[in-house]
Amino acid sequence: MTRVAVIGAGSIGANIAYRLAARGAEVTVVDAGKPGNGTSAASISWLSTFPQIAGSVPAMVAHRRRTNDGFRRLAGEIGDGWIHWTGTLTWADLPRTAARLRQDFAAMTAMGEPLRELDAGAVRAAEPGLDPPPDTPVYLEEDGGWVDAPAMVAALLRGAGWHGATVLQDAPVLAVKADGDRHVVRTPEGEVTADVVVNAAGSWASHVGALAGAPVPLDLRPGLVVWSRPLATPIGRVINSTTLNIRPDPDGGVAVHWRGEDTYTAHGYNAETPAQVIEAAAEVIPELRGTAPARSAVGVRPVPPGGPVVGWHPSRPGLYVAVSHGGIGWGPTWGDLAAAAILDGDTSPAAEAFTPRRFLR
Ligand SMILES: Cc1cc2nc3c(=O)[nH]c(=O)nc-3n(C[C@H](O)[C@H](O)[C@H](O)COP(=O)(O)OP(=O)(O)OC[C@H]3O[C@@H](n4cnc5c(N)ncnc54)[C@H](O)[C@@H]3O)c2cc1C
Repeated sequence: MTRVAVIGAGSIGANIAYRLAARGAEVTVVDAGKPGNGTSAASISWLSTFPQIAGSVPAMVAHRRRTNDGFRRLAGEIGDGWIHWTGTLTWADLPRTAARLRQDFAAMTAMGEPLRELDAGAVRAAEPGLDPPPDTPVYLEEDGGWVDAPAMVAALLRGAGWHGATVLQDAPVLAVKADGDRHVVRTPEGEVTADVVVNAAGSWASHVGALAGAPVPLDLRPGLVVWSRPLATPIGRVINSTTLNIRPDPDGGVAVHWRGEDTYTAHGYNAETPAQVIEAAAEVIPELRGTAPARSAVGVRPVPPGGPVVGWHPSRPGLYVAVSHGGIGWGPTWGDLAAAAILDGDTSPAAEAFTPRRFLR
């Protein structure tokens, strides 16, 4: 039986741990803190590609279908209390993004994607608490929604436990040593000996990579998420404009990320205050006007230059790396890919597409 130590119990590490354990590996998950408490806890965790992902429309459509199929299968295996198939309402609130959105809508609709343009009356009927800008096309994406990521991580680790996995929490990895063909992962809670080590430490993956002698270059891009107090007229769907990401929260409020005029790719953290974020969201959810934020958190996005890094590390045999932005939506896909590589020796083009060898020599 292959013994695997998974370092990091966020969305990505928990998905990989679950899939490996379900497929028969002997898995130990090691996290520096509480599972699910890293960037995965400070995320909008929205499941959609319209119109978030740059690239060709067929690539967006393929990604969306694979993502949602992966989540449906996972929910069938571990239970579904953590996933909310609410759909998304999208509009462009900057003139420079409107034409691209309209084009993507037309192309994706032509491919049979579940997208519809709603008139103002239909928007009001669907979301009475929402007041989008006038004379702006609003698109409803019926599939997708959002994930309660900490709850998903808990469900994945519970599921991994059914298959014999163990979890060490509050156990920061201090060293990853070689012992012949094996690896020894050292933590204050003890040592884990494994045939394969997975570095799924998210924004800390460069640090864990350094401990293992296997570098992982990363850009770190912080983003502020602000939670409102519960609303009398709750918002049911994910709301996505060019400048705002809003999703419902289980307590009846909303979680808001405000991008301002800069997307994360252009700029990163805009130094806005939680009160300013609520004010920006109040432009489209009037009930928020004048209300105080309930809480906020800065999540640090791990963004490998050149795209996701998922595959065997070229510097150290037996060391697998899985780090990407969009790590909630990609989670089940990375779980499948890692299990195929580690347990089946998969070297197909799909398995190789995100290999660290692309830029690590
Ligand atoms: C504002 C914002 C909005 C976002 N919106 C979306 C979205 O809508 N959809 C989407 O898919 N993604 C979104 N993301 C990105 C997504 O949240 C991340 O890609 C994802 O959470 C990364 O998951 P992860 O498992 O790699 O990292 P994490 O969740 O950070 O997990 C890494 C784990 O590694 C552990 N760790 C660190 N160091 C060590 C060590 N030395 N030893 C042991 N363990 C260690 C940490 O404790 C942590 O639990 C957003 C991010 C932000 C900030």
